[in-house]
Amino acid sequence: MEKSQESVPVDCSFCKTSITCPPDKLDAHTHACHECFLDLIAEGKEIKNIHVDIPRKELARVNSIMMAGSLRDAAFPEVWADYKKNFKKMSTREIAEEMFALGARCMAESMMEKMARKVVGADTDDDDDPDDDFEEEHETWAG
Ligand SMILES: [Zn+2]
Repeated sequence: MEKSQESVPVDCSFCKTSITCPPDKLDAHTHACHECFLDLIAEGKEIKNIHVDIPRKELARVNSIMMAGSLRDAAFPEVWADYKKNFKKMSTREIAEEMFALGARCMAESMMEKMARKVVGADTDDDDDPDDDFEEEHETWAG
């Protein structure tokens, strides 16, 4: 399939499934099939110098899950704990919907937190204008 660079068969470091690896990634310490990679994300493990073989048809799904993983780090370990049990069975569309729900909740809670901080007067991370209203702050949430 690949014409410019010939991929070489390697074993997944975790489940020993045969996967393919481009020549420039052969020196990675760890090789993983996409399923094992999703397991790593579910476990919250971060592995340096890893090559992951992701089939093109799985790419969108894996990307969504990685994004969900970063949301988890941002805010919702308990939501993530539920989510990670199921995401491997979910379709890309379901994951996208889940992401949307997570994101909306994330935003709502961060706004509430900001409002609460205003109430107690402990909002110290506003270095420019202490009278910024939260509508302005929430625009920067995803940035
Ligand atoms: Zn594997």
